[in-house]
Amino acid sequence: MRPLRERVRIVLVEPSHPGNIGSAARAMKTMGLTRLVLVNPAAFPHPEATAMASGADDLLEAAEVHPDLDAAIAGCRRVYGLSARRRALEWPMRTPETCVDEILATDVETALLFGRERSGLTNEELARCHALVHIPANPDYSSLNVAQAVQVMAYLLHRAAPSTERPIDTDGTGYPPATATELEGFFAHLESVLHRTGFLQPDRPGRMMLRLRRLFLRAAPDEKEVNILRGILSSVEDCCERGGGGD
Ligand code: SAH
Repeated sequence: MRPLRERVRIVLVEPSHPGNIGSAARAMKTMGLTRLVLVNPAAFPHPEATAMASGADDLLEAAEVHPDLDAAIAGCRRVYGLSARRRALEWPMRTPETCVDEILATDVETALLFGRERSGLTNEELARCHALVHIPANPDYSSLNVAQAVQVMAYLLHRAAPSTERPIDTDGTGYPPATATELEGFFAHLESVLHRTGFLQPDRPGRMMLRLRRLFLRAAPDEKEVNILRGILSSVEDCCERGGGGD
């Protein structure tokens, strides 16, 4: 069983204040997490990040920097989006505790996504998540500083994961959950086929694709299942090419 520090990455999406990157690194290190991933940070490396990291600069040095979110979550088999709003999108929601329980119940590569200081995560980014997590707070003022949101999740993970991580619970399929890259490949394939069959309206595919994403992410398909789904899509494409009708 891989320890949390190896398989849980904290992803900060477009942080604008380098100090927050340092604070997030410190929050992580105090709770034994190590993998900090940055998507297109406004300024990094930066002396303010180093100052706020206050001894957690090893995490900053090891931080991965990616130009976009897809690259940052490429190998992840489970993705959670932290949202300051209770209902950012009609999407599966988890309490922080349930999120932590789910992480500990598996052995898979997992990402926790944290949004921009001003605007949080976009709907497109939230739509890459299997579930969203809201930290309950004052309903009239529920937006935590991003590094403090990292601290809350890191603490809960630390508290729930003593030396005794639980053995792996699986769904019994025998295959690992699909990675974010495999899922995005499937969604792109699905959208292209649904355009081709005329199921999607060319002018407004967005909402239907979001519903379909939500459905498939809720099912959390494994690698084999994604291959089967893509095989089905390919058979539809073959069928269209032949001019419809089976054999
Ligand atoms: N004004 C933004 C809030 C950004 S706070 C908005 O309305 O979305 C920056 C990031 O910190 C958020 O994107 C989220 O990832 C995290 N965060 C802040 N407060 C949170 C909360 N109560 N629950 C979960 N995540 C939170």
